Amino acid sequence: MKFNFTCIRCPIGCELVVEKNKNGSLKVLGNRCPRGEEYGKQEVTDPRRIVTTVKQTKFGTISIKTDVAVKKKNYFKVLKQINETAVTKKYKIGDVFIKNVCKTHSNIVVTGIHEEII
Ligand code: SF4
Repeated sequence: MKFNFTCIRCPIGCELVVEKNKNGSLKVLGNRCPRGEEYGKQEVTDPRRIVTTVKQTKFGTISIKTDVAVKKKNYFKVLKQINETAVTKKYKIGDVFIKNVCKTHSNIVVTGIHEEII
C-alpha cells in the first residue's frame, strides 16, 4: 500500500511516498532529511495536528493554539471544548487558556491578543 502526501515539517514541502509492506514495515521515499522520514511514518500510523483558532471574548479576540500536536481524530473535540469554555479574564500572550484539553496532554495557549472583535 502507498500513501502520497507533502511533508509539512519545513517550507520545502517534499513530496513523500510512504510504502507499507505486508509485514507492516514502512519505507519513506522523497524526503530530503530525517525529519521527513519521521513525519511520513507518523502521518501513516498516528497522524497529529496543531489546532489553531481564534476566540471571541468580551475583552476582544484571542488567537490560540495547542502547544503540542494532538491526534487528528481529536481535532474537532478540541475545537468544541475551546468553543464551550468561557473566557472570564483578560489573557496575555503565553498564558494557558485550557490545560490538558480533552485529556490530550496538550494545553491551549494564547498566541495573540486583539483588542477589537475580529
Ligand atoms: S523532508 Fe525534510 S527537507 Fe523535506 S519538507 Fe520535510 S523537513 Fe523539509
